[in-house]
Amino acid sequence: MPDLHNAQLDWDEHGQPLSRSYGDVYFSRANGLEETRHVFLAHNRISERCQALPAGGSLVIGETGFGTGLNFLCAWQAFAEHAPADARLHFVSVEKFPLSAADLQRALALWPELAPFATPLLAQYRAIHPGFQRLLLDGGRVVLTLMIGDVLDCLPQLDAQVDAWFLDGFAPAKNPEMWTPELFAELARLSAPDATLATFTSAGFVRRGLIEAGFAMVRVKGFGHKREMLAGPFQHTHRQAVAPWFARPEPPSAERHAVVIGAGLAGCATAASLAARGWRVTLLERQDDVAREASGNPQGVLYLKLSAHGTSLSRLIVAGFGHTRRLLERLQRGQDWDACGVLQLAFDAKEGERQGKLAAAFPADLLQPLSQAEAEQRAAVALPAGGLFYPDAGWVHPPALCRHLVQHPLISLQTYREALGLQRQADRWQVSGASGVLAEAPVVVLACAAEIGRLLPAANLPLKRIRGQISRLPASEASRALRTVVCAEGYVAPPREGEHTLGASFDFHSDDLTPSVAEHASNLALLEAISTDLSQRLGAPALDPATLQGRAAFRCTSPDYLPLVGPLAEQSAFAEAYAVLARDARQVPDAPCPWLPGLYINSGHGSRGLITAPLSGELIAAWLNGEPLPVPREVAEASHPNRFMLRKLIRGT
Ligand code: SAM
Repeated sequence: MPDLHNAQLDWDEHGQPLSRSYGDVYFSRANGLEETRHVFLAHNRISERCQALPAGGSLVIGETGFGTGLNFLCAWQAFAEHAPADARLHFVSVEKFPLSAADLQRALALWPELAPFATPLLAQYRAIHPGFQRLLLDGGRVVLTLMIGDVLDCLPQLDAQVDAWFLDGFAPAKNPEMWTPELFAELARLSAPDATLATFTSAGFVRRGLIEAGFAMVRVKGFGHKREMLAGPFQHTHRQAVAPWFARPEPPSAERHAVVIGAGLAGCATAASLAARGWRVTLLERQDDVAREASGNPQGVLYLKLSAHGTSLSRLIVAGFGHTRRLLERLQRGQDWDACGVLQLAFDAKEGERQGKLAAAFPADLLQPLSQAEAEQRAAVALPAGGLFYPDAGWVHPPALCRHLVQHPLISLQTYREALGLQRQADRWQVSGASGVLAEAPVVVLACAAEIGRLLPAANLPLKRIRGQISRLPASEASRALRTVVCAEGYVAPPREGEHTLGASFDFHSDDLTPSVAEHASNLALLEAISTDLSQRLGAPALDPATLQGRAAFRCTSPDYLPLVGPLAEQSAFAEAYAVLARDARQVPDAPCPWLPGLYINSGHGSRGLITAPLSGELIAAWLNGEPLPVPREVAEASHPNRFMLRKLIRGT
């Protein structure tokens, strides 16, 4: 990924963007808007197909080369005009060189009639980092999934069924690397049975390559001075090659009603993603309100723990961070969150080396190495070292995000409802509490951290609780200077409502949630290691830890640190159906997976639920609605709740 950067543009005398690296235009100089409507919309019959969408239906458009987003905005405009109110548009687009926000704004200013669509896109166009980036528009009715990277790297990671392809990208003569048989094969692999494809080019090798891949391409009249272009339907059917234990379960029922257990970030996000798709959600919470347990700290930090090796966890973190960061735009800055940046100190040689690799692997708009002097200037306090600065990150008041997520007329939050049992009764899940049935629905989503173990003892999910305690420190005149979150082994944030949050301890063994003096003392030691200067500004050395306020909660983690997000199989039937794996792990038996029908899990987010839980809500909704997955297929499989029973079968442990 090191060669990823923003597009380098020149602007011609009419204010139109040109790519400096490809020496090509982004759209027709004559009339980009009309060109898009002719080439991509008309030849994929977008307006007609929007009009014909059934209630609750959705149209999936795939594009190569997001560029200025003109094609996307035109498609959205057509969808807004023609689709029924409860339909949804999924637009999935790849872009190797995303425009900077400033360039995007300048380019889109060319089309005043698209302003009602361009304005919300621009408001969400931030944290567009490598990998999958999901943007929710029009209350989630329009879902844009940008894949930032080379088309030949990104499309193989996509799990989607595309109805209409916009095969864009600079002209084949100027961008020969893109127009390859591998690309055409990917378009075929991802095509829904009635997919269509249109492209502005009429190059013979493109036509022949697409025909070879299964598209019945014909030459039709091109736009403006262009004599011809290509369009045609996909004429084959493709079965996606996925192991049955990671396949998409059949929808359990036509009724769109789910019970979600747990109103922390994972549960609230799941409820929000389902409600945005027209699902009725009963959200059960044992406490008196949302975010009373692990999501209840006054300040959580958008802390990205990345790997330079592109691991599934690292890719999930970059995707999740972008998604959360865009959601935060809807909250009140300063009160509910702040994009003050996060500085991760290079607190020892090993961490310094790790940070050097990250700086080489990721673009500078995600993270930047800072010298000690630069870091001190950023933070406005004295520091023991430089580090990595994440300019888009910051702190969040997680309860505010939870409250925002559940503001939807289809979500019914029911507090003081502790789920103690789960039974399947005539195609529905019944959730029972101390005094009987609390709720029932065809779908249940368990978002109650490690309590899942109590509700599903037979599944043996390896979820662990880790107690964490934060300390609240009243800000002083001198400590208010702190301008960014600073982390070493602990973290401290600029003040919210006159208090800094300082955290956090880790304890695998304690079951007691009463804040302990010893852990306040250890949090003060973490602060001292971050900045002696800040510690003094706060008068911390003279503080008696016994006088400190704070709170403790249990994080919930898994052995591989990835969350558990998705459907779950019944363990004993699974072991029986795939017993052959114990002898030969390379076999892929075709027995269908014995799912617990309609049962889903969203848990195991550890101490980074702010980053991974909201996107996981989108992932649950995508599994349940047969939609494009918001993360690479490999990441969805690495986060799949079935992975543990699969490993157990294969390794016999
Ligand atoms: N559809 C765009 C619009 O509506 O503004 C215009 C697309 S522009 C003609 C071509 C785009 O394809 C550029 O943004 C370019 O960076 C992108 N692109 C070219 N080669 C690519 C590749 N191999 N992988 C991903 N994106 C690529």
